[in-house]
Amino acid sequence: MSDQQPQLTGPDLSEGVRADSLADGATLAGHAAGEPVLLARYGDEYFAVGATCTHYSGPLAEGIVVGDTVRCPWHHACFSLRTGDALRAPALRPLPRWTVERRGELVFVTEKIEPRDAELGSLLGASAASPLLASPIPASPVPASPGAARPNRHPASVVVIGAGAAGSAAAETLRREGYAGPITLVDGDPDAPYDRPNLSKDYLAGSAPEEWIPLRSPEFYRERGIDLRRGVRAARIEPGTKRVTLSDGFSLPYDALLVATGAEPARLPTPLYGGRRMHYLRTLADSRAIIAAAGEARRAVVLGASFIGLEVAASLRARGLDVHVVAPESTPLERVMGREIGDFVRALHEEHGVVFHMARTASAIDEKAVTLGSGEVLPADLVVAGVGARLSTELAAQAGLAQGKGVHVSEYLETSAPGVFAAGDIAYWPDPHTGERIHVEHWVVAQRQGQTAARNMLGAGERFDAVPFFWSNHYDAAIAYVGHAERWDRIDVSGSPAARDCTVAFRQGDAVLAMATIGRDRASLEAELAMERGNGRALATAVS
Ligand SMILES: Cc1cc2nc3c(=O)[nH]c(=O)nc-3n(C[C@H](O)[C@H](O)[C@H](O)COP(=O)(O)OP(=O)(O)OC[C@H]3O[C@@H](n4cnc5c(N)ncnc54)[C@H](O)[C@@H]3O)c2cc1C
Repeated sequence: MSDQQPQLTGPDLSEGVRADSLADGATLAGHAAGEPVLLARYGDEYFAVGATCTHYSGPLAEGIVVGDTVRCPWHHACFSLRTGDALRAPALRPLPRWTVERRGELVFVTEKIEPRDAELGSLLGASAASPLLASPIPASPVPASPGAARPNRHPASVVVIGAGAAGSAAAETLRREGYAGPITLVDGDPDAPYDRPNLSKDYLAGSAPEEWIPLRSPEFYRERGIDLRRGVRAARIEPGTKRVTLSDGFSLPYDALLVATGAEPARLPTPLYGGRRMHYLRTLADSRAIIAAAGEARRAVVLGASFIGLEVAASLRARGLDVHVVAPESTPLERVMGREIGDFVRALHEEHGVVFHMARTASAIDEKAVTLGSGEVLPADLVVAGVGARLSTELAAQAGLAQGKGVHVSEYLETSAPGVFAAGDIAYWPDPHTGERIHVEHWVVAQRQGQTAARNMLGAGERFDAVPFFWSNHYDAAIAYVGHAERWDRIDVSGSPAARDCTVAFRQGDAVLAMATIGRDRASLEAELAMERGNGRALATAVS
């Protein structure tokens, strides 16, 4: 990706543009010295930063400016316009920036300022072609959320269990915030940390090479003095003596601990499939195994019409397999996304040749086929089950940490044991937007929780109050979802899912709890902002 020449649009900003051509809060995509640049105005100040998001290269000009920050339309990353710093996940790397000079009626983009520890970025090595590895992390502190104190605590040592979205973001944030003590990041997965959402999407479809999958290079951790121990599991936590025992016999003392063990796929009962190899998808190894099996397969059956199951179906179609999806519900994704999006997603997959067997379950699976309860027999060279996830909370339970639908944490993400934090899929936190304790399984939420937990280990006292966000991709349709609605009493649809242009608002009473959009990224960002500001009711009026 980084080998390609950047696409330049708009004016050459080094030649100057009229200052009054930008309204307050507006952006202009242009270029300077052959690089795409975003010029933005906040009040009477003008800023110039890189025009593409450092997460997945989303076009920032299609995002929104909030104060002196800009948010990416694709996955809601947020950057400082002033410093280029990545303020919110999923972006973990800063944007380059340029100086802006005002001369009379014109503003000129002039000198480029590299992100502050670019010398570390150059050490990232061979994988630099990955969009996720393409630019460095800032060494300077990232401001905590408004109202939070600057970090003021220095734990003697920090242990992070799980190098997934939450754990790896936490370890990086500790260093970014200036923590200089020992950090040990432990993961049972020999490949961690990597871009898990990609495992069911481009990587599985064959359109993203494996070099794009790691989140960081090994050098990245070495340079920052983060002791990454992969292929080693945490076997026991002892909150009393503040020690973690590892599967290789090591015992690590900690002053602050983050448990971020995520989830694993729910498994089908063994008698259902006898000795046949079933595929599940959580890890890079799982995705590699499906790719290997797909190479020799012609017909695949996907059990479960979950987000992951359907993304697998789309990726296997991209590899030319016949794909059948079997699921007990009548409409895919209806429980989470409602009927309209569910019907649209089904029709979209059917257009691409997927055959659905809804309101059906498998009654037997053998070496050659999947037999349904209805008696129908589906020949299958490859069977993938996407039938939900089971939270990996055993370690937390064994340590005596309070549990509900996950590990109970305070608004600061601290568990019932002082100094022990939990983040990501396992966190069961008091969500200020719904007024309820919730847990979600979203990439961006996990990263943001990891960042907040890290700052709170350092005494920041930062409440976790981010509005949940997730996305899912199906062929040319990207669904974005903000907020959280476990139940609703009305769904309002505006626009048309089939035209890839719609907003679906999930309402309870007169408030919008969550909003799904297709092709309306700006509306998704605006909904996120309204929910952050507690304007669910205003939002309800706006989308009615
Ligand atoms: C295929 C797939 C596609 C997805 N796509 C999307 C998407 O498009 N959008 C979205 O928002 N979300 C998506 N998700 C969900 C998202 O990936 C998760 O919500 C996110 O990864 C959760 O982060 P986490 O840090 O809590 O857990 P994880 O990322 O799962 O990391 C947990 C880590 O802990 C390790 N671990 C567990 N137990 C131990 C132990 N005892 N000792 C040491 N290490 C341990 C595991 O090996 C793992 O690496 C997807 C998930 C999958 C599986």
